[in-house]
Amino acid sequence: MTRAGSSTVTLLPTAIVGSLPKPSWLAEPETLWSPWKLQGDALIEGKQDALRIAVQEQGRRGIDIVSDGEQSRQHFVTTFIEHLTGVDFDQRETIRIRDRYDASVPTVVGAVSREKSVFVEDARFLRQQTDQPIKWALPGPMTMIDTLSDRHYRSREKLAWEFATILNQEARELEAAGVDIIQFDEPAFNVFFDEVQDWGVAALERAAEGLRAETVVHICYGYGIKANTDWKATLGSEWRQYEKTFPLLQRSSIDIVSLESHHSHVPLELIELIRGKKVMLGAIDVASDEIETPEEVADTLRNALQFVDADKLVPSTNCGMAPLSREVALGKLSALSAGAEILRTEIATART
Ligand SMILES: [Zn+2]
Repeated sequence: MTRAGSSTVTLLPTAIVGSLPKPSWLAEPETLWSPWKLQGDALIEGKQDALRIAVQEQGRRGIDIVSDGEQSRQHFVTTFIEHLTGVDFDQRETIRIRDRYDASVPTVVGAVSREKSVFVEDARFLRQQTDQPIKWALPGPMTMIDTLSDRHYRSREKLAWEFATILNQEARELEAAGVDIIQFDEPAFNVFFDEVQDWGVAALERAAEGLRAETVVHICYGYGIKANTDWKATLGSEWRQYEKTFPLLQRSSIDIVSLESHHSHVPLELIELIRGKKVMLGAIDVASDEIETPEEVADTLRNALQFVDADKLVPSTNCGMAPLSREVALGKLSALSAGAEILRTEIATART
């Protein structure tokens, strides 16, 4: 079997960051942490059907690097942690997440470990559905510790290091299952700058150690939910958070940096700080129901080309799309690929 995407290199290959809305027969639409509407074998089958639809829609709408749309998980961090030992989900404490909002979270009560793989079966299923390159997202170590109360290690760094080791085990199995690109979601990198410098990037590199698959770190300003949009309103007219982390990531072993751009106040010139890395650029706003026009997407990408070489640019969404309606999210996928196509044509014309 030859893979279309890996045998011929597409210029500006498009990808989504992570989640897509789930079908309403599987989970409550436009809701984070929505409980499943099915149980037992019907749930397993329902998740697979939803994943199949997510793959088909990405293909139909011209997305080149295919993801699972996170159809088989409730939440990008919680679902992974639920499969580990050492964390008690019944013992909950209220803590502040990313310095932004209070949430009732599970407690680390003993040594954390992964007794069996978490997503490998799902990744294998995704691999069977498409010949395109596939990408799988995992939470990053710092973002994981930030959603837990820790009564065992009593050290954010130690717990992050344990999670990095566990993530590496999972990532190696995902790679063996045929995943081409492994992504670590680290929105916490936009908040805890001292820790990113002291041990955050090192923990991330530990999670990615020894992988042949390409690796991504996704750093964003969060889903389009109220706690995040309220926080963004306090950040002023220029969002310079990436300025602190990008130089560290530029020197890291991570291959691709995924960042938020369209409709954000991130100054584009900050991309220069990761020169040499591939850039997954958010050209789709996930906090708005308005579907971008292809021209808007092309404008965002064209502006970024001052700071990233065309062969290193991966047009993407700003973040996951779980909280959007399906109609809007799928419309945005079409806009993303149509915008990328405008720019591909421009680049091809300029070269001839
Ligand atoms: Zn995100």
